[in-house]
Amino acid sequence: MYSIQQNIEQVTKQIRTAEHKCGRVPSSVQLLAVSKTKPIEVIKAAIEAGQKAFGENYVQEGVEKAQYFTEHYKNSGLEWHFIGPIQSNKTKPIAENFQWVHSIDRSKIAQRLNDQRPENLPPLQVLIQINISGEESKSGTSESEVFQLAELISSLPNLTLRGLMSIPANVSSYQSQLNAFTKLSAIQSKLADKYTNVDTLSMGMSGDMEAAVEAGSTMVRIGTAIFGARDYTTKS
Ligand SMILES: *Cc1c(COP(=O)(O)O)cnc(C)c1O
Repeated sequence: MYSIQQNIEQVTKQIRTAEHKCGRVPSSVQLLAVSKTKPIEVIKAAIEAGQKAFGENYVQEGVEKAQYFTEHYKNSGLEWHFIGPIQSNKTKPIAENFQWVHSIDRSKIAQRLNDQRPENLPPLQVLIQINISGEESKSGTSESEVFQLAELISSLPNLTLRGLMSIPANVSSYQSQLNAFTKLSAIQSKLADKYTNVDTLSMGMSGDMEAAVEAGSTMVRIGTAIFGARDYTTKS
């Protein structure tokens, strides 16, 4: 049984090794700890190990955690990233409680997050989610619609467009993983040419982070390798 701290050290080492192997600048890839379904106590252990950025998928659960830690860990520089699918009737608590949103996939969601972002908070840092493998079961905009959505987001004062997020089809071969990530990286470069704040490419999870780093990821979203397998049986 490994501790959360050991797991974070191990994952960080894996990221640094992957950066080194492909000649990336050391520490150019950030670790987002995906804490969905995991209790407060486990997140505390990750914070004690130095982790600052956390990703959550479910609105109610994520809001509860973000509020708890915002209240109890003031000025500790924690960041809450919403990375799950967004229903339009759930945008308000997201706009009010998170610093980042990775999963904007349509204009209605962008508009609502902008309108509902409280004026006393800095702009929400946002990524457009692309469905790069075209799987019907996955959310995300199509490649052809990314630039239209980017244009809208860049016109909204309470959102800052930072880049792209994607969850490619789950494939086991390194080369197939690399192919999908390389496609994303090319779209990201075009976006960065057009919009000055674009610097973030959120791709790579526990099973494919090395390929993501090789293709240019700047943020890997890691759940299982840090917190262990998730138990969904207690969730309704
Ligand atoms: C759950 C989840 C992750 C983490 O996946 P692991 O395989 O547990 O590392 C990353 N990104 C998103 C969008 C997720 O929903």
